[in-house]
Amino acid sequence: MGNVRVLLVDDSTYIRTVLGSIITEAGFEVAGEAADGEEAIRKYMHLKPDLVLMDVIMEPMDGRAATKAILDKDPEARILMVTVLEDKDILVDLMQIGAKGYITKPFSKDKIAEKIKEIMGE
Ligand SMILES: [Mg+2]
Repeated sequence: MGNVRVLLVDDSTYIRTVLGSIITEAGFEVAGEAADGEEAIRKYMHLKPDLVLMDVIMEPMDGRAATKAILDKDPEARILMVTVLEDKDILVDLMQIGAKGYITKPFSKDKIAEKIKEIMGE
């Protein structure tokens, strides 16, 4: 599947570090990191990653707003939400604005690798 470059977006440094090791161990590449929605948009446009792992709850700009903004600029963007939210309405809303899927925290290494492969294989 070639080199899949992933942008990691989460307001927790710890979670970004964990995600980074998972991504690397699974054979993907970390393209960059962002700690809130605005930084995510900036880094996305600059780095053009193949996929974004996007947290939802972040300040000042959350993951929903960032997902919407990125997809406005690049409708082909592949964004996978990583969230503690299990509220069905919120998840449905995120899929409707164009996210490719979601993973709930606490996440497993296998789940993340599997989801990324699934999205990249589409
Ligand atoms: Mg968060």
